[in-house]
Amino acid sequence: MALGDYCFTDCKAYCCRKGYIDLTPKEYELIFKIDKKNKPKEKISAFLGDSCPALSTDFKCNIRNDPLHPKTCKEYPIFIRGKKVILSGNCLAVINNKFYPFISEWLSQDFEIIISNSREGNNLK
Ligand code: SF4
Ligand code: SF4
Repeated sequence: MALGDYCFTDCKAYCCRKGYIDLTPKEYELIFKIDKKNKPKEKISAFLGDSCPALSTDFKCNIRNDPLHPKTCKEYPIFIRGKKVILSGNCLAVINNKFYPFISEWLSQDFEIIISNSREGNNLK
């Protein structure tokens, strides 16, 4: 989640309530509170179901200040890779053009802007 109040009140954390999230074993253990022996050995794509277990009832992330807060969650919905800016096409803020001022700035700096509906820009989270 990237936009503070907009994410909590307007979108109600859609990205934390749908789809998959790529997690390291430690991130998985933190979020799903599993027994250590059931911890995955490698990075996995975990299904969030109706809601990420770390999402509070007021649509805030309970582990946002934890050092193990997943990297993909910190980045979503903007992934900067070299001179490419990949925006998730499933994010409500992207759909409603809330990043317009940033996009103008990136374009002025010759970044390529990609709105993605693939895993790269969507289910990276
Ligand atoms: S989908 Fe976009 S607007 Fe909605 S909570 Fe996630 S980052 Fe915020
Ligand atoms: S860890 Fe936090 S930011 Fe990431 S999906 Fe779960 S509730 Fe959302």
